[in-house]
Amino acid sequence: MLYRWVISLSLMLAWVASSHALDETEQAIRDAVRTAEDEALELLEQAVNINSGTMNAAGVTEVGALFAEEFQRSGFTTTWVSGAAFNRGGHLVAEYGDRGPRVLLIGHLDTVFAIDSPFQRFKRIDERYAAGPGITDMKGGNVIILQAARALAVAGALDGLQLRVVLTGDEESRGDPLDLSNEALIAAGDWADIALGFEDGDSDPTTVVTTRRSSSEWELRVTGKPAHSSQIFRPDIGFGASLEMARILDGWREALSAIPKLTFNPGLVMAGTDIDHDVANTRGEAFGKGNVIAKSAVATGGLRAISPEQIAEAERLMRAIAADSLAQTSAELHFEHGYPPMAPSMGNEQLREAYSTISEELGYGPVAAVDPRRAGAADISFVAGRVDAAIDGLGLMGSGGHTVDEIADLYTLSQQTERAAILLYRLAKGEVRLTTQP
Ligand SMILES: [Zn+2]
Repeated sequence: MLYRWVISLSLMLAWVASSHALDETEQAIRDAVRTAEDEALELLEQAVNINSGTMNAAGVTEVGALFAEEFQRSGFTTTWVSGAAFNRGGHLVAEYGDRGPRVLLIGHLDTVFAIDSPFQRFKRIDERYAAGPGITDMKGGNVIILQAARALAVAGALDGLQLRVVLTGDEESRGDPLDLSNEALIAAGDWADIALGFEDGDSDPTTVVTTRRSSSEWELRVTGKPAHSSQIFRPDIGFGASLEMARILDGWREALSAIPKLTFNPGLVMAGTDIDHDVANTRGEAFGKGNVIAKSAVATGGLRAISPEQIAEAERLMRAIAADSLAQTSAELHFEHGYPPMAPSMGNEQLREAYSTISEELGYGPVAAVDPRRAGAADISFVAGRVDAAIDGLGLMGSGGHTVDEIADLYTLSQQTERAAILLYRLAKGEVRLTTQP
């Protein structure tokens, strides 16, 4: 009996401690989010029901118009950045405020589901779950951004912030040329002090993303001396393209697998007397015979790294190993660096800590950082190096992203909105201490 009483007393104390951690305005923000939950769900359903596969420019534009109207209703000024110059739908930029910390909020309008995909509609599964194309990746995140701003406005706390929302229209497949497609996002990164990404992250509400790896591609072409196979290994005939390719790939494996958090993967390898590499469709044909030394080889693959220094080190090692050719062979290596890394930083970590504290005070428990090996590249990667602090993965949680089984856990809708809104409020009040570092 006494034991039970002690337990309930300590639970009560814990509850008192946690509920007292939120100030009055924060409680008002939380209540405003909860009151608006039905409105948030309705908007989510509306957004999901518009097909906005990346290449469906009209659909992307329509989702952009929907959110533009909603942001305008909340006092934001909006700009539509046409994607004509980079062969995509376009981006929506929404801005608010002229004093306080500058916060960039990142979402995207497009999904991976093309206009003819069988997966087109929002479908409520039960009280807790709903399915839909892009519901967590990331129309849910876009709704959370809007509803967080609205809750701050209801609580009279929106005016201490400068917000710039960038909802890109080509996150799932970047427009070309990349520098035009990225212009609005990078300008916002240069403007902002802090960047918050509303992707679904690891789809786990107990984690956020503080570090993302880069995404690069490479192509290795090897040439050997064609001759009758019986003469292979002779100094003037050499080893041929196949063995040289094998040597390089295995050398890379040995050197690169020792670097923590870095991975590289040869996704396609071909060798023979004649090879026909269809680069655009990442396929090809090879011809070769057992009695002829291979003349050509090609390999293409990806590379993921956690920092610019790591990319440079990997590139240096790969080039050195490729250049150390076997007799009568040569190699050519090309890199294409796509998404930069979101490198680990003190600011990111402090932002995560602040978010975690808020989460605990709301009763949702602590929030840890995702292992970067589990986090792919995303829009925030382009701006993380331009702000004092950045975190991502603040969006709607669920499962099955990028597949027709994409499902949202609607219980996380208010939770994520409350946490983001109160984080913005504490940033406005200057309560989140960020140590800026190079
Ligand atoms: Zn996404």
